[in-house]
Amino acid sequence: MTSIAQRLQAVRARLAAAAAAAGRAPDEIALLAVSKTWPADAVREAAAAGQRAFGENYVQEGVAKAEALRGLGLEWHFIGPLQSNKTRAVAGTFDWVHSIDRLKIAERLSAQRDVHRPPLNVCIQVNVSGEASKSGVSPDELDALAHAVAVLPRLRLRGLMCIPEPSEDPALLRARFALLRARLVGLGGQGLALDTLSMGMSHDIEPAVAEGATIVRVGTAIFGGRPALAASESA
Ligand SMILES: *Cc1c(COP(=O)(O)O)cnc(C)c1O
Repeated sequence: MTSIAQRLQAVRARLAAAAAAAGRAPDEIALLAVSKTWPADAVREAAAAGQRAFGENYVQEGVAKAEALRGLGLEWHFIGPLQSNKTRAVAGTFDWVHSIDRLKIAERLSAQRDVHRPPLNVCIQVNVSGEASKSGVSPDELDALAHAVAVLPRLRLRGLMCIPEPSEDPALLRARFALLRARLVGLGGQGLALDTLSMGMSHDIEPAVAEGATIVRVGTAIFGGRPALAASESA
């Protein structure tokens, strides 16, 4: 059986190869281990193999794991859809939120972030696939949302995130990732200094790194195929 440590090593090797192929330094790209649906023990195993940053999609599950593993000094990223009645728990537990797609959520996170903690790092999720994907702000509305989020006092807008539609076509995936990169550059030209492109998952690390990803979010390739979701957490 392949262990989490072995799979982590294989993913790091894939990342290094993708960076080399793109003429980039491997340390420009951070690996976020997506531990959703996996128990705290799996996170502990990955942490023992040197992994520090973990991504969660479901609020209660993520908060429980972060609490259970508090002593390990891990970094927690919220990457799932976020409803306004859950923002307080997210602002209290997580270090990053990748999935901002409307101002109301960002305003609540800013208001609820403890003033004694560092600002919450956030990315705006952009719907780069048009009709094919439901999550994320539409590209038309991105610039206005970015400027509004950037001035919120307890948030630090770091960049953009996307999840392209599932595809086996590397050229299509690259075009989606290239769009996200172009929009980050465009916001830079409008005076927003952003440094993060959160893009690329287990099946599309390579095209994402080729187009400038600075954080790749990898679950299956590290932890294995996910167990079925509990019904109560899938909403
Ligand atoms: C589940 C998930 C991932 C990881 O996907 P894998 O295909 O398991 O690597 C990355 N990002 C988001 C937003 C996810 O929900």
